[in-house]
Amino acid sequence: MLYDQIIVRYGDLTMKGRNRNQFEKRMLQQVKQALVPFGSVSYFKSFGRLYVRLNGQPYEPVADRLKDLFGITTISPVVSVQSELEEIRAAALSLMQSIEKPPATFKVSVKRAWKGFPHSSQEMNHLVGGHVLRAMENLKVDVRKPEIELKVDIQEEGTYVFWEIIQAGGGFPFATNGKVMLLLSGGIDSPVAGWMALRKGLEVEAVHFHSYPFTSEKAKDKVVDLATRLSYFSGAPMKLHLVPFTDIQTRLAQQKSDNIIITLMRRAMLRITDKLAERNGANGIVTGESLGQVASQTLASMNVIGRATELPLLKPLVMMDKQEIIREAEKIGTFETSILPYEDCCTLFLPKSPSTNPNLRVVEKVEALIPELDAMIDAAVEGTEVLVLTPSGIQTVHTEGEDDWF
Ligand code: ATP
Ligand code: MG
Repeated sequence: MLYDQIIVRYGDLTMKGRNRNQFEKRMLQQVKQALVPFGSVSYFKSFGRLYVRLNGQPYEPVADRLKDLFGITTISPVVSVQSELEEIRAAALSLMQSIEKPPATFKVSVKRAWKGFPHSSQEMNHLVGGHVLRAMENLKVDVRKPEIELKVDIQEEGTYVFWEIIQAGGGFPFATNGKVMLLLSGGIDSPVAGWMALRKGLEVEAVHFHSYPFTSEKAKDKVVDLATRLSYFSGAPMKLHLVPFTDIQTRLAQQKSDNIIITLMRRAMLRITDKLAERNGANGIVTGESLGQVASQTLASMNVIGRATELPLLKPLVMMDKQEIIREAEKIGTFETSILPYEDCCTLFLPKSPSTNPNLRVVEKVEALIPELDAMIDAAVEGTEVLVLTPSGIQTVHTEGEDDWF
């Protein structure tokens, strides 16, 4: 096999004013964890880059995995050789010959980082380019717009020859920007919001409210699937909190304030999430809300609902169009799961005319008529089931109320 390493780049821009060492440490941790299934790979760090040594593994699956991680800007599969002219020439030629669709034009771009190398970059462009041209009859040089730019990076420890530069996830490595709770429904939007939070380097714990037996086991499985998919992008295990919401919903419904019932439910959800955040050391709440999508997502509704928590509410999709969100969901592979039929705990209680402009004082007055609400919220928190998910499935199951289970 030709390629023996993959260069992992993590752009300088994202590191401005940040602790670079910490960033790099997390990066390496994340990559190592994600590549555990590839057993034999090893790592080498140099000049703000990471080299994944394949040790005989085929490069595609490893590259595919790396491409979905955050904090990585680009990756390149490379052929590495000793920094010695004939070896470099041979590697360049076999790489050019291995390209599936033979290019008509190319150019060589040599970067000589190791000043001890005997030839200048200019000389090397000719020495390597000439060698390839002599062996490949139909190939021409085009310095302006070549089909392939063959890169030769000469370092003291070795020379890397490559042409592909593959875009990776961008953003920040996992857990470099703090922790949030993600309100994860079974819908299209919230998994996309979760993916965007992960891309920003947030550690994400998912929270799902279910109204068993009004909502089925299938609805729960679906959310487990979505959270599992998200854990693939984090490259780390992800907690999913399953909150029993039936009692609270039933109680709120008895209040006969149909037009604000969704407002009341959402506020209860936020109060529970707030408590889960405190217990788990999270400093914000992420939702999949998008302005104007439904009655509970008007600006006025968001205002009244949002006051139920003092934590920052992060709504990455707030200004996006549904079509854009759907495209993202398809790209990250959650769309197919999200469109499976399921019963959402809130649509079960959906009134005929939900208020698009709830009044905070009225909402607070109705809540004050339910003195047992506080205790019910505490009970929901205590009864919350916690799953720890990894891309390969459920790792452990606990109850929030248990002591010291982690
Ligand atoms: P989604 O596609 O994410 O379900 P949506 O457009 O259907 O969003 P709503 O159902 O109004 O909108 O929900 C708005 C947001 O509230 C969701 O994006 C999610 O963050 C949160 N949410 C709704 N239902 C639940 C639930 N059962 N458990 C956890 N979070 C929920
Ligand atoms: Mg929904």
